[in-house]
Amino acid sequence: MPLAPGLHFDVPVQLDSRPGPRPPAGALGSTATRPAARPVLSCEALHKIYRMGEVDVRALDGVDLVLHAGELLVLLGPSGSGKSTLLNILGGLDVPTSGHLRFEEHDLTDASDDELTQYRRRYVGFVFQFYNLIPSLTARENVALVTDIAVDPLEPEEALELVGLKDRMDHFPAQLSGGEQQRVAIARAVAKRPPLLLCDEPTGALDFRTGILVLDVIERINRELGTATAVITHNAPIAEIADRVITLGDGRIQSERASERRARPADLRW
Ligand code: ADP
Ligand code: MG
Repeated sequence: MPLAPGLHFDVPVQLDSRPGPRPPAGALGSTATRPAARPVLSCEALHKIYRMGEVDVRALDGVDLVLHAGELLVLLGPSGSGKSTLLNILGGLDVPTSGHLRFEEHDLTDASDDELTQYRRRYVGFVFQFYNLIPSLTARENVALVTDIAVDPLEPEEALELVGLKDRMDHFPAQLSGGEQQRVAIARAVAKRPPLLLCDEPTGALDFRTGILVLDVIERINRELGTATAVITHNAPIAEIADRVITLGDGRIQSERASERRARPADLRW
């Protein structure tokens, strides 16, 4: 398939160059002691404007952002602040009206639909508020849909073990709770060992206790696999699990702060 100059999707991602497993949150919790982080994904001056009749809705109004190797970033903001629009553009599901997007050495700014599809397939794991599992397939089969077409995937069984569902592999979605279905969706997202994990309100449909379990899985995957992870939420206490928190409002970045130490999901209250 022809690729635009500058896009080399046949270059494998250097998994070995990613940071190794990190100590548990709280053990060496200071971000200040970590080596300088390598940018994996970045955007500059992103604008997304929806024309609604006579009105322009500025969903994104000039966003600059970097996601570093191995970090857990939380994007916090109220409903309508542009979080999903931003995550969808970062993940190649949508394109900006203007601005630049870069993943590793690939400039995605003018990528074609085919190139964005390749980017998503190889490099991006998505988790959404609703789990989007196929009801007629078991947990294992839902994960295998992805691993069958991936380059160097985990076995579906390994991915499900990672999310604590090894003993539920042969269950159908309807036989699993909401939190368990979300964990299958996370297993499916990470089974291809993506360097990027993008989560849009992953606990949005879950009760508090179940939400904590899901965040715990996301936090552990970030820590153990070194997957650069962005988690969207409107729920401020969830931001405590992050290495860095970016707050969005009206399509703009309102604030950014690095955490002294990451909270364990189990210690969160909301
Ligand atoms: P969030 O995820 O923070 O709730 P969104 O990114 O979904 O915010 O939306 C940001 C703004 O863009 C909102 O005002 C929303 O109504 C608008 N918007 C999002 N998608 C569309 C669309 N497809 N068409 C028109 N307006 C949209
Ligand atoms: Mg949203």
